[in-house]
Amino acid sequence: MTEFLNCPIPFHTGFSAQEKIVMAHGGGGRTMQKLIQELFAKEFTNEFLSNEHDSAQLPMPSGRIAFTTDSYVVNPLFFPGGDIGRLAVFGTVNDLAMSGARPQYLSAGFILEEGFSIESLIKVVRSMKIAADLSGVKIVTGDTKVVEKGKGDGVYINTAGVGVIEHSLKIEPSSVCVGDRVLISGDLGRHGIAIMAARSGLQFETTIRSDCAPLSPMVLALVEAGVQIHCLRDLTRGGLVSALNEISQKARVEIKIRESAVSVLAEVRGTCEMLGLDVLSVANEGRLVAFVPESDVERALQVMKRFEVGEQSCEIGAVESGGRSRVLIEGLIGVTRVLDMPSGEQLPRIC
Ligand code: MG
Repeated sequence: MTEFLNCPIPFHTGFSAQEKIVMAHGGGGRTMQKLIQELFAKEFTNEFLSNEHDSAQLPMPSGRIAFTTDSYVVNPLFFPGGDIGRLAVFGTVNDLAMSGARPQYLSAGFILEEGFSIESLIKVVRSMKIAADLSGVKIVTGDTKVVEKGKGDGVYINTAGVGVIEHSLKIEPSSVCVGDRVLISGDLGRHGIAIMAARSGLQFETTIRSDCAPLSPMVLALVEAGVQIHCLRDLTRGGLVSALNEISQKARVEIKIRESAVSVLAEVRGTCEMLGLDVLSVANEGRLVAFVPESDVERALQVMKRFEVGEQSCEIGAVESGGRSRVLIEGLIGVTRVLDMPSGEQLPRIC
């Protein structure tokens, strides 16, 4: 996929490789119109977008829908394993998937900085299209605004997403109960460390790639297999530690996990140690934690392991008791400690 994104521009013959984003005064209005017609409308084309109306008109399913929004300000815009466009689609798709919803529609809002290279914008937009296709969503409405040079950082993207909930489960923190088992879908810490390594000025190089990926196919397969999912959360900002603490607080339960069960690549662990980061608090963009009844653990793991994003799924702990919100971790040498919420922001601009 990276190779595909690196191919030269002629796909969009309306632009030259040297063109930059310009403000709306002077000839800017025309450039923006050309961008919308030659780039966004062509890349994201679908029956809803091509209506070219002020709002997309969408068929509404009966029952529940899931609706979410997120803004993406990642720095740098391109990093090993992904880019801001891929992140803006998968991040929002994954938030829909955490309700067990089938992602359907996305909006995409672009804040472009004057002087941003159109070639880079084309790469981002094409990456979003590929990510949307992989996730089974359509980008049905969008917006672009340009801000003065120095007032932005190339491009910021906001996406909102709508998904259909086709089951009767209540997949949410308050459904978590005592006895539930805690599963994670793979090794942790790759996204945050890939971003850190890609940032200019860092004195180390790694081969770590972001885990950035859509989780909805795996989640929908769990629902289809009849797994009684109580809660799901993607392990983004704040990583596993934040996710478990948030769920424990909402459900008022004590969760205990085993550090030895959590898989971390040696290179990720080494980099975290070097930078003084707790790998369990580092962001992931293609990992989730699932709370399921003990009787469903085996079936859930079987389903999750069928997917590349879930190949290394495993059980890491359980909900031990109710009435008290706390997360405990049994460390590698057998000592149990409290796993508190990360203090402050460990890694800014990671998504
Ligand atoms: Mg989330």
